[in-house]
Amino acid sequence: RNRVAVLNVMIDVVTMKEAVETVKQFILQKKSHLVVTPNPEIIMMANKDEQLARIINNADLVIPDGAGVVWAARYQGDTMPERVAGYDLVQNLLIEAMSEKYKIYLFGGAPGIAEKAKKIAEERYPGVHIVGTRNGFFTKQDEFQIVNNIKASKPDILLVALGVPRQEKWLEEYKEELNIPVSIGVGGTFDVMAG
Ligand code: UDP
Repeated sequence: RNRVAVLNVMIDVVTMKEAVETVKQFILQKKSHLVVTPNPEIIMMANKDEQLARIINNADLVIPDGAGVVWAARYQGDTMPERVAGYDLVQNLLIEAMSEKYKIYLFGGAPGIAEKAKKIAEERYPGVHIVGTRNGFFTKQDEFQIVNNIKASKPDILLVALGVPRQEKWLEEYKEELNIPVSIGVGGTFDVMAG
């Protein structure tokens, strides 16, 4: 896949359709994959946070989440077909999940938000299989139990909403242990779904 630099992060040159197909391929491959959704704010953050920049640059799919990212790439003379927002990618993956029978886990958000997003997803995408939820407020000691619960649910896709950069750093720490085909840092997606 083609990548272009925006400041110190490399962004994939992908359309929404290609991003969805890429995630579907990741699920077939079984090994862990990380998807990140940098918007201009996150790119600015990565410019000052080397660990975040490294995680983004090692991610398996980096989508251009925001008109500003598309604009910056084009301004430099690079190709960038369209904005691929994290929220929209999640909705498209939930649509795929209906026919492909993907199992999805929602981790993060204030207490009750992931449950509400699950309910909304089940109404919006009939037959979608949300295998677990967990709020994003926890201590270090809770993490063992959280990781074990996610693993026991055997999701194909893990959506993590702890905010940037916490969600990316958390996923980096537990990626191998979790061994889930696709993990995505989704920021405020559950809040938007829950309304
Ligand atoms: N959040 C969380 N645990 C925390 C801090 C934040 O679960 O310790 C959640 C918060 O409730 C919200 C999401 O992380 O649902 C962050 O959303 P925001 O829109 O701030 O995301 P970003 O702008 O970082 O993508």
